[in-house]
Amino acid sequence: MSVAEAVVVKKFAALSLDEKLDRLAEVAVRVGLGLKPGQELIMSAPMEALPLARKITEQAYKAGALLVTTLYADDPSTLARYEYAQDASFDYAPSWLQEGVANGFRGGAARLAIAGANPALLAKQDPTKVSRANVAASKAGKPAMELITRHEINWTIVAAATPEWAKLVFPGEREDIAVAKLWEAIFAASRVNVDDPVAEWKRHGERLKKRVEFLNAKRYAALHFKSADGSTDLKVGLADDHLWAGGGTTAGNGVYCQPNIPTEECFTTPHKDRVDGVVKASKPLSHQGALIENIAVRFEGGRIVEAKATAGEDVLNRLISTDDGARRLGEVALVPHNSPIAQSGILFWNTLFDENAASHIALGQAYSTCLIGGEKMTSEELAKLGANESLIHVDWMIGSAEMDVDGIAADGTAEPLMRKGAWV
Ligand code: ZN
Ligand code: ZN
Repeated sequence: MSVAEAVVVKKFAALSLDEKLDRLAEVAVRVGLGLKPGQELIMSAPMEALPLARKITEQAYKAGALLVTTLYADDPSTLARYEYAQDASFDYAPSWLQEGVANGFRGGAARLAIAGANPALLAKQDPTKVSRANVAASKAGKPAMELITRHEINWTIVAAATPEWAKLVFPGEREDIAVAKLWEAIFAASRVNVDDPVAEWKRHGERLKKRVEFLNAKRYAALHFKSADGSTDLKVGLADDHLWAGGGTTAGNGVYCQPNIPTEECFTTPHKDRVDGVVKASKPLSHQGALIENIAVRFEGGRIVEAKATAGEDVLNRLISTDDGARRLGEVALVPHNSPIAQSGILFWNTLFDENAASHIALGQAYSTCLIGGEKMTSEELAKLGANESLIHVDWMIGSAEMDVDGIAADGTAEPLMRKGAWV
């Protein structure tokens, strides 16, 4: 850190929490969404994120929002369902609401999600009920989700520090201290602890774009991940006509947005039938309120044929049994181990952060925008190129300071892309 940077960080540290939230809200609206004057905003947030949701609402109206509508989720109410609801409740989801949200998107609305739900909320609930409820919610949410995964609209995710999440990230700390520490980690990872966060994001976006252009020019046929201890030795074939993406993107509605705050990844679409070898997760995974630890799986011809975990193995097995595509990859992403989030050394138990700390793969749905001309293709055309289709999309981390990655050309020659987790 230079002297100039030290002064800037100190200036940020001198701000009140209220002012810091306002900075994050400004980045969310101006950088994350690129919200246009007259555009509607549909937001989702946990109840505990109310102060940030209010700041984002203010910033959205200042940017000219037509109307901001927020759907709040309340953890005790969710738990009440698991405790008292009749059995049929777990196969039901409000498709009327999701249809309405999808209609809002089709009518021009942007979407913002505040992440911060308790990662272990449903850890003690019946996994069958959890997975039934997730399947019902995924089915009902599909029309809205498709508009998001196809980048038809501008959307973004930002995070809020909430008490249950903070206690999991900083165990042993008093609740208020844990929450304060998590907020500081979020501000740093989200690059708002600088003088001009909007300008810093512009620079960061340009750096990511350069990396993406390099990878796109290479046209690799596959990536080879290899860990020092041999627990990962995985060849990930890339989809024909794959496109790397990272940083900002111009959505189908013409608005330039940064879909994740923070973001450090360059990602693309693997070929659903060309993944072989073994891979071990480098971090635990929190999936819909359940924790899955030490995931180790074996792929054959693109399909998971063996899946193990030291905790949450049943949740993992249910997850990959959601549909045929749930056993196959829909994303592969490269993240250097020297990213600010990785350097913080914090395990966030939250994909938005942990996936930006390490190279990762995702089971399930592929992003059609990661294929040349993919936005305009039918599901059949996408499948022909090797893009996977599923109700799920779950990222899990495989990168570490011990991971080497090679790019494999179409003729089989390998060249080093990453050594010990860092770009070559
Ligand atoms: Zn990713
Ligand atoms: Zn992903």
